[in-house]
Parts: sequence; C-alpha cells; structure tokens
Amino acid sequence: MLSELLFLRYCLLGDHHLQTNDRLVCDNCLEQIPITREPHLPHVWHKSDDSPLESVCSYWTFQEQVQSLIHALKYQRKPSLGEYLGQFIATRIKLPWLSSVDRVFPVPLHPTKQRARGYNQAAAIARGVGEALSVSVDATGIVRRRFTETQTKLSRTERHENLMGAFQVHPQVTLSENETILLIDDVFTTGATLESAARSLRKKYSTTVYGLTLATAPLEA
Ligand SMILES: [Zn+2]
Repeated sequence: MLSELLFLRYCLLGDHHLQTNDRLVCDNCLEQIPITREPHLPHVWHKSDDSPLESVCSYWTFQEQVQSLIHALKYQRKPSLGEYLGQFIATRIKLPWLSSVDRVFPVPLHPTKQRARGYNQAAAIARGVGEALSVSVDATGIVRRRFTETQTKLSRTERHENLMGAFQVHPQVTLSENETILLIDDVFTTGATLESAARSLRKKYSTTVYGLTLATAPLEA
C-alpha cells in the first residue's frame, strides 16, 4: 500500500513529485524521450505490395523510459496512463494523413488475456488518440479469434503465420465506403500484428488503414 502511494506521488520517469495524482508522468519527462526521426519507420517496416496498411508510424524510439511506461501501462493497472500517452503523441505527431482518419480501432488482446489484465492497453492509448483527433474510437471493433502464443520468441515468419486470421471485424460493426481507419497498438516490432488486424478490415471493406504505436526500435538498433 505504501509503495502504491509513493508511486502515485512521483513521476514515473523522474525523481520528482507530480502536480496531480491522476497523471503518472510529467510532460517534461515525456518530452525528453527521443522520438523516431523517420516516423513512417523505413528501418523496421518494408511495405510489401500487398500490405493492407497504407502507412505506419511510431512516435518514440523504444528504450528505458518507454519500457517503464509500457510496463506501468500493461502490468500496474494504469489504463489512464495509456489514454494520456495516446493524447500526448497524437497532438505532437505531424503527419498529413492523421487529419484524414475517420475512426480509431485498437488492436485487441485475446479475451483470456484481457480478462486477466482487466483492460486492453491498446484501447486505452486509442481513447487518448481519438480524443486528440476528435474522432470516434471503437474499442471492440476488431476481435481476436484464437489464441496466439507470445510473439517475442518467434521469428518474423512464425509471427506472421501465427497471426494469420487471428483477427476479425466485429459482426456488429459496419464501415461506410472509403472510411479511413487508424489502428493503435503499444509497440511496433515487425508490423505483423498491425498488418493482420488491417487485413481483417480490408477483407470486408474498401478502407484505407494506417497504424500508429507509441514506440518502435531506434534507427541505430
Ligand atoms: Zn517527470
């Protein structure tokens, strides 16, 4: 209990007090995190001819501070942090296509995982992004169909195979012609997850789909 109180009173990324209790990190610390110099991620994502994604973007380069943020977001029951970070990056990223977005969908967690965690961290980020862009967020618009093993130990091909057909558009969701959709996830690794989720949308609708995450590997990695 005591550690929880102390945690709430200090900035997640710095040894200093916060102004308010509901924000877990201060803007000053967030602004110190290096951002991706090429927001469309040419160093980690090579768009194939048949990619269902129009483009992708990550705001920060993945490193210690981002790791702390993601850890708090995923394992310390802090969905409000996700909302704040989503808002933070969406108001700072300068990309022409952001203004064309009609609707925001988070990449879903498998229901079992979501029950254990209590929330989907990508949905929390998506709410913040949607608020910043003034567009609606459909937290359950895409559903996860079957369990996919933890991705971290798999090769790129294995990840791809594992994710094929893992997502589907919720039966109650209807998209209008030519809607532009923004998919949200926490971290961009190979793009396999975002592409699989985007494919589920494009299978049913003629949409343009973009992907946005908080962070990805740095350029020099
Ligand atoms: Zn701080």
